[in-house]
Amino acid sequence: MIRVYNTLSKQKEEFQPLQEGKVGIYLCGPTVYDKSHIGHMVGPIIFDTIKRYLSYSGYEVTWVVNITDVDDKLIVKSRERNLPMDAIAAEMTADYLGNLAALGVDQIDHMPKATEHIGDIIQFTQDLIDKGFAYAVDGDVFFDVAADQQYGKLSNRSADTAQGEGGEAASRKKSASDFALWKAAKEGEPSWDSPWGKGRPGWHIECSAMSRGILGESFDIHGGGLDLVFPHHENELAQSECCHGKPMVKYWMHNGLMRAGGASGKVGGRSDRDGEETETQATVETKISRSKGAGGLADLIETHGGERIRFFLLRTHYRSTIVFSEEGLQEAGTALESFYRLFERYQRITGNSFYELTPAVQRQAIDSDTLECEFLREIEALRLSYLGHMDDDFNTGGATSDLFDLVRSINRFIDQHDLEQGGTVEQQEALDAAVQTLRNLSAILGIFVTPPANACGNDELTDQLMELMIALRAEARASKNFEIADRIRDGLAAIGITIEDRKDGTGWRLG
Ligand SMILES: [Zn+2]
Repeated sequence: MIRVYNTLSKQKEEFQPLQEGKVGIYLCGPTVYDKSHIGHMVGPIIFDTIKRYLSYSGYEVTWVVNITDVDDKLIVKSRERNLPMDAIAAEMTADYLGNLAALGVDQIDHMPKATEHIGDIIQFTQDLIDKGFAYAVDGDVFFDVAADQQYGKLSNRSADTAQGEGGEAASRKKSASDFALWKAAKEGEPSWDSPWGKGRPGWHIECSAMSRGILGESFDIHGGGLDLVFPHHENELAQSECCHGKPMVKYWMHNGLMRAGGASGKVGGRSDRDGEETETQATVETKISRSKGAGGLADLIETHGGERIRFFLLRTHYRSTIVFSEEGLQEAGTALESFYRLFERYQRITGNSFYELTPAVQRQAIDSDTLECEFLREIEALRLSYLGHMDDDFNTGGATSDLFDLVRSINRFIDQHDLEQGGTVEQQEALDAAVQTLRNLSAILGIFVTPPANACGNDELTDQLMELMIALRAEARASKNFEIADRIRDGLAAIGITIEDRKDGTGWRLG
């Protein structure tokens, strides 16, 4: 039985989809005005894993991630860069998709764009006006928070919390807590015709309209970062439930945000969505900003590889704050090495590649009593522990530690029976079964899909060779043979390795 923590009820609930065997998931996606940073990848990696686990557990899952391609930030960026808004949106969407692919996020079924759903958004807004939950003033349309008796039930905020950008549009609102469904276009802004004149959609109404369009009026899971609970999700919920008169979402799931830790701890904390959200930032952990701290995501992916980043993120429970640091990523890399070493061992013993084993698509029950050998019973216990962790609100942190235990167990078995020197047929079969289990369980986390590229330069052999090169250069310099010392440095630079003389010794890095 899968249990899910629901932000609405503030407790873990038994997972029972609305329709037997089927699950609809909606995750709020990016506003595509700038390149993505690692903080934007937390939600996609977690929900990619959740979808994998639900599919493995027998559900047919539809996962939607929207793209906000019309927004105040995009309009500002379009002016700054003197490019049409849609050109910027297309460029940044491509960047986003490239990052998702590099991190193994490949389970998304639909990525609707706001600008492709303007008709639905206008209809939704009109329905809310007709039902008495919204009003139009001079080309703007606002949601009337006072008309919704249930407003605030997701975030536990009182209905009179002010929201919105302020400014002259705010002066037209009946109450400071009302928010925009439709914004009148100013001179030179991208706009669409509507019953209220030329304008564009507000951010919140997009998600209500697009989730309805693809998943229906009620669906199972709505996800997003904790910073979206208020006002974005509170507003989505208000819009949809007032419009349809029924619950919008069964399980509201929110992931923790990322904050900087370790030596690289200088990260901006401002929200990267519209101004409507800034006030909530005081209540959440500092978030990695687009412009500072962690550096570009593309750089990070190039340095560490997507698998390491994904593994790093999944080691923390999705509801916890993820403390981002270069050291943490390095540590994840070291941890992954123990898996890669085992895969090499397995290949030496059996001649089979771990990567060519086909992962199981669906969960199976195994009768533990039929397992003759002690080793396979141990593997089965670890498998059950892993599934128990995942069943318990998708505890990927617990699940990854079970994978480490599997590796330890398999290595011990290989050592005990000296399998690298050959073993009995039974022992080989037991090894195959255990490694297949590791394959099945790691595929759920979306890791070890393809062999690691040694290009990221953090394997053991490279480290040892570099230690040798650095020692030779130091010896050359000590004996005043600067020609050789420079040749070592320049030769390494030519293949993309930079030698760095620091106070505490000489180090190296790629690039
Ligand atoms: Zn949304």
